[in-house]
Amino acid sequence: MGKIRMKGLEEVEREARRILEEIELRKKRIEELEKREEELWSRLEELGFPKGTFIPKYVRCGKKKCKSCPHGPYYYLVWKEGGKTKWKYVGKVLDALEAKKRAEAKEIIEELKRIRKEKKMLKIITLSP
Ligand SMILES: [Zn+2]
Repeated sequence: MGKIRMKGLEEVEREARRILEEIELRKKRIEELEKREEELWSRLEELGFPKGTFIPKYVRCGKKKCKSCPHGPYYYLVWKEGGKTKWKYVGKVLDALEAKKRAEAKEIIEELKRIRKEKKMLKIITLSP
C-alpha cells in the first residue's frame, strides 16, 4: 500500500486553478497551430497538392531479427477525390512537382510535421502526484 497524502482544500483548489490555466494556454497554442496549418495547406494547394492530410506509416521490412523494425514514419498524403479516398506517398507527390515548387513544398511539409508533433504533446497532460 502506498502512503496516503492528505491535501487541504486550498492546496487542491490552487492546483486545480493551475491546471485550468495550463489547459487554457494549451488551447490557445493549439488554435494558433491550427491557423498556421490552414495557411500552410493553402500554400500547398497553390503548389499543386490535393488538400488532405498526412498520415505517418510504419513499415516492417520482413528481414529476420531486424533491430530497427518497424521503419518510418513514412508520410502518406490522404485526400478525397470524386467521393473516393486516395493515398499517395508524399515523396511521389513531391517528385511530380517542378524543382522550384518542390523545395518550398518540402519545407512546408516539414513544418506541418513539427506542428503535428507539437499538437500531440499539447494534448497530453502529466499530473504530479
Ligand atoms: Zn526492419
